[in-house]
Amino acid sequence: MALKPSFSDEISNLLYAAHGNPINACIQCGTCSGTCPVANYMDQTPRRLIGMINADLKEDVLDCNTYWFCASCYHCTVRCPADIDIAGVMYAVKRYSIWNKTYSEDLVGPKFSEAFVKTIVRTGRSYEPILAPTYMFHFGPKDFFHEAVTASKMMLKGRIPVLPPRIKRLENFKNMIRKIIPLGESS
Ligand code: SF4
Ligand code: SF4
Repeated sequence: MALKPSFSDEISNLLYAAHGNPINACIQCGTCSGTCPVANYMDQTPRRLIGMINADLKEDVLDCNTYWFCASCYHCTVRCPADIDIAGVMYAVKRYSIWNKTYSEDLVGPKFSEAFVKTIVRTGRSYEPILAPTYMFHFGPKDFFHEAVTASKMMLKGRIPVLPPRIKRLENFKNMIRKIIPLGESS
């Protein structure tokens, strides 16, 4: 009978688009945490997150905000002495959380990620008027009004298109994406 993969194996398997060494090569040096510009806002530092994945602490990993707060700046990835793609690990945990629906409903990150991917898959381009509602309502009334006014001005000046732009050869693009992520009927 086939053995069920451990959580760390599942995350490693999701790193299919990444390069570099496997996460169990981590030497816990802390370079990633020291270099991360948003580590102060994370529940667990990148170093701790990698250690928790390697220890198969699945619930603790999925409960923390670390991977949703990652800004994908890749500072950690280029500086890791063990050549681990830490930014890729953050994406892998996000994917795992979205596909298994383990995220908290009040988080903006998962809704934004899903809306972003759907927009990209439908048209090949990002489109702010569809993405904005995923996070605008989390602003207070003053910031919400400020953002709405700014967006309207940008639209009037042609900086945001009125209709979603589409790339040429969209079907080719979708076929390429299908090789990376499963596309639902709505996509
Ligand atoms: S920089 Fe690399 S080796 Fe050091 S703690 Fe982070 S992941 Fe581990
Ligand atoms: S890629 Fe993410 S985890 Fe790495 S340094 Fe940037 S924000 Fe921090």
